[in-house]
Amino acid sequence: MSLREPLHRRTLIKILLLITGVSGVIFFALNMSRGLYVLGTVELIVAAYSLLLYRVVSRTEHLDKWILAYLIPFLTTMMFALAQPGASDTIFVWVFLIPQISYLLTGVGRGFVITAFYLFTAACIFLYRFYSSGVISPVSVANIVICAVAIWSFAHHYEHGRERYSRKLLHFAERDSLTGLLNRMRLAELVESEIRNARARQQSVAIVLLDLDYFKTVNDRYGHPAGDEALIFTAEKLQSVVRRTDYIFRLGGEEFCILLPGADLNAGREVAESARRALEQGDFHIGELDVPFTGSFGVAVSGRDGDSLIDLYHAADQRLYAAKHAGRNRVVSDEMELMFSVAEPAD
Ligand code: GH3
Ligand code: MG
Ligand code: MG
Repeated sequence: MSLREPLHRRTLIKILLLITGVSGVIFFALNMSRGLYVLGTVELIVAAYSLLLYRVVSRTEHLDKWILAYLIPFLTTMMFALAQPGASDTIFVWVFLIPQISYLLTGVGRGFVITAFYLFTAACIFLYRFYSSGVISPVSVANIVICAVAIWSFAHHYEHGRERYSRKLLHFAERDSLTGLLNRMRLAELVESEIRNARARQQSVAIVLLDLDYFKTVNDRYGHPAGDEALIFTAEKLQSVVRRTDYIFRLGGEEFCILLPGADLNAGREVAESARRALEQGDFHIGELDVPFTGSFGVAVSGRDGDSLIDLYHAADQRLYAAKHAGRNRVVSDEMELMFSVAEPAD
């Protein structure tokens, strides 16, 4: 389950589909008995479509598209029903649902456009049917318009606040508060979907694990706040060596990961090497004091090292361990290197 999906939308669309499915059948029977055959048939088609969609929206991964595939025909049918001369006057109460369902199901941006379009259309139909023929007074029109605008305004502000609040929660849920990098939970969500996307394009995905060398010493020598600054500095250095489409994570402590969609082993190795150099040459200072530190890197690539987060992480972690064992401040990206590193430590 992704935190990005507004979970209430799936439930809401299912409730709405059930309501329109059942009420469509009822109105089909009522309209047929009153001789409104075209409207009755349209109601039946909407009912069948709603019940069919109910199965689809229960499991689709493209909920947004299916919501639109339902909402636009549903609201258009509503306008068609409003325009029928023989239709009941009270059919207009359905119009008050438009802001609620549009905003709750599609969010602030689309909700605004859909509400504005269909409320305006409904108002034109209403004025054409009743006001121009003098059936309804200006006071009644004012009551209806003010009530509709109030509902629209509540729906808009409620959804706007909800979206802002969810974005904030999402930010805290998937980011590390010290460096602002993505966290371990987000890595788990992203790796497998990126591997699937890359495989569809016959490409691979590389991951680079980094563990800073002797970081405890930085803390011990310069203090924990200085260590924190060094972690922020590391995050900035990593940002400077990746593309906009790559992801950087802080997995915890002084361990980081870079996810490189579409990268092969060489590309992964190059990025790791650039990051290693950036740290080695990095001019990190505490006041006037130059504080040098380095990192060790392990690289793994999908396909060759497996196709799941567990496989890739395991392979990269083994190589990171070998890099540490071989003397730190280096990149290990394949088994030969691994054997070589273990057999002949650099120091
Ligand atoms: P190695 O080269 O073997 O990785 O040595 P190391 O000292 O980096 O390894 P170790 O895992 O023993 O120590 C990691 C240190 O990272 C321990 C802890 O003091 C420090 N550390 C972890 N999280 C934070 C943090 O959020 N802030 C600071 N300042 N230090 C942290
Ligand atoms: Mg560590
Ligand atoms: Mg370390």
